[in-house]
Amino acid sequence: MKIVDIRATTVTVPLEAPLRHAAGCHWGRFVRTIVEVETDEGIIGLGEMGGGGESAEAIFRSMKSYLFGHDPARLEEMRFKIANPTASLYNNRTQILAALEFACLDIIGQKWGVPVYDILGGKLQDEVPFASYLFFRYANSKDGSGEVRTVERLVEHAKDLKAKHGFTSHKLKGGVFHPEYELECYRAVAAELGTDAMSGDSFRFDPNAAWSTEQAIWFGQQIEDIRNDYFEDPVFGLHGMRRTREKVRMPLATNTVVVNFEQLAANVLNTAVDVILLDTTFWGGIRQCVKAAGVCETFQLGVAVHSSGELGIQLATMLHLGAVIPNLSFAADAHYHHLTDDIIEGGLMKYENGRIKVPTSPGLGIKLNRDKLKEYNELYKRLGGYAYDQDPMRPGWTPTVPNNRWADHNDDRTPEIDF
Ligand SMILES: [Mg+2]
Repeated sequence: MKIVDIRATTVTVPLEAPLRHAAGCHWGRFVRTIVEVETDEGIIGLGEMGGGGESAEAIFRSMKSYLFGHDPARLEEMRFKIANPTASLYNNRTQILAALEFACLDIIGQKWGVPVYDILGGKLQDEVPFASYLFFRYANSKDGSGEVRTVERLVEHAKDLKAKHGFTSHKLKGGVFHPEYELECYRAVAAELGTDAMSGDSFRFDPNAAWSTEQAIWFGQQIEDIRNDYFEDPVFGLHGMRRTREKVRMPLATNTVVVNFEQLAANVLNTAVDVILLDTTFWGGIRQCVKAAGVCETFQLGVAVHSSGELGIQLATMLHLGAVIPNLSFAADAHYHHLTDDIIEGGLMKYENGRIKVPTSPGLGIKLNRDKLKEYNELYKRLGGYAYDQDPMRPGWTPTVPNNRWADHNDDRTPEIDF
């Protein structure tokens, strides 16, 4: 089998409301590039990539000259062909490789008549548990709905998501407001949902490495009494994490400072992080994540599945990954429940009891809805990209690391942005 074409289509899919984070905001929509790899046998495999609010169509078009005639089953060779570790000093194509690997696995699965999890060693579970991913949100400029800013509204939002989807683990994305205010927010959510010893609800906090080491230690010590899954990226850098870990009594997790095998080796030799959050995009594919999970198993590090924003194709890769790794010790993260629609057949996948079923049909087990692809490609063309690392309400603000210029939690303005 040979690759004969690679197509890429940029889509914009609306979110319920703009999602705020330490470095800026998702401006009420996700911009994703949908990749289709076609073979000489007419099989089409699907991939997906983010890109920080921008289209990645051009880079996928340029990959055609590398991969025309390549056998999609030769995945290791493809890795070196387009993401050779020394050549990547010039072109870092890790995320490009990931999207193409998703598509090739989808092709192989369809050709062999097996789901991707069977190619990866077989599934250990039929569904993957997810955490409720709580964001501070601006209001939707169309109808004023969806704002999450006050303590009361945040608690209400967490309860709504639990009631709707069945989550028993809750993650708060912080690094937006002053740490003392965010501490009040986190403690309020934990107090509301974590008091029942039988419910099993647990919590995780992630300020996207926006704090100094001392700030991270202070915050960590204030939340030691909560049932924390882990404390995620409170500070940037392995050394800051190591210093925090010495003084805070809970596991630390990262999707920031251990995102490749070099960093994983460094963390094994001089441990700074307890739980490695594997992202099928950041690591360069599902198989790279499975390999990394094997290293974590050997050295008894924790593992969870990270979300870098996803539509149904990438979500499927997260489900197949979650299904096959024996040491998945925490609920996965997903932005998915903030979306209003999807580009796959059947629309948004459903959570049941906080879990999503792993697709069982051949390949990734999802199909493109071409009407939706067209509709959201038109929306992308109308709206263009957005600055993921800027805040629409804070023009001129630069998110430094560590940061000390927080957004004002009393500011109730709504950004006038179309999505
Ligand atoms: Mg994170």
